[in-house]
Amino acid sequence: LPEPRLTVLDDADVAVLLPDPGRESDKYSRGVVGVLAGSGQFPGAAVLAVGGALHGGAGMVRYAGPESVATEVRARWPEAIAGLSPDAVGRVQAWTVGSGLGDGRGDDVHAALGAGLPVLVDADGLRWLPERFTGPAVLTPHAGELARLLGVERAEVEARRLHHARQAAQRWNAVVLLKGSTTVVAAPDGRVRVNPTGTSALASAGTGDVLAGLAGSLLAGGLSPFDAGSVGAYLHGLAGRRAAASSGYPSAGDALAELPGVVRSLRGV
Ligand code: AMP
Ligand code: MG
Repeated sequence: LPEPRLTVLDDADVAVLLPDPGRESDKYSRGVVGVLAGSGQFPGAAVLAVGGALHGGAGMVRYAGPESVATEVRARWPEAIAGLSPDAVGRVQAWTVGSGLGDGRGDDVHAALGAGLPVLVDADGLRWLPERFTGPAVLTPHAGELARLLGVERAEVEARRLHHARQAAQRWNAVVLLKGSTTVVAAPDGRVRVNPTGTSALASAGTGDVLAGLAGSLLAGGLSPFDAGSVGAYLHGLAGRRAAASSGYPSAGDALAELPGVVRSLRGV
């Protein structure tokens, strides 16, 4: 492994990294993010990922998935463009793939990953990784998912989180964002960022889907995989903290609802 270079982001770092739409921006120049997520069994994952993507600065969110799920996405987020098959989605600048997808959608995942665009792969999408990525990529496993990828016990990943995140980043040539109480983001070149904003308020179903959409949106907006992952984790943690401050036990949707305020205070606008 390369020499580790470990840093901790703070508000000022993140403020500088956040996309800043110029005066002449349009919805395409701000980036179009494609979201391949959700299934009949887990439609909510699609709704949450699209919600995260709508608040990560991209100019357009295009949802690709089953019509029954697209109907729910449209109902919750009229801003999103829903109902396109992954191979028919044009003008996408980055893909978020995998949240709530189930185990039968390998062809769709391959179509999205094969487009050669920056990709974020979460949850079930991690079942269909290539041997190595040749383009920009972020993987967002939790410890159990990373353990399955590496063929080791979950307890082993938990015991050496940094090591295994770095190993996986090397092996897949991708940024690996290992989620947990302290999320670590490892790049293939040895850089590591540790996220200081986490809160156990986020330890509830659906929060990972929000993060996947959010970080995918940042990727579409032009951030590198390393920046998109680490800025996404940072904002997500702050949103969880705000949600906990205003609701006893916040849901993933409560944290999602705090994202605009978090971004607003960091951008100072
Ligand atoms: P997932 O496992 O995909 O549902 O994602 C869970 C999200 O919640 C990730 O962003 C984790 O980093 C976060 N999370 C889970 N447990 C904790 C915890 N104890 N402290 C802080 N963040 C957590
Ligand atoms: Mg998850």
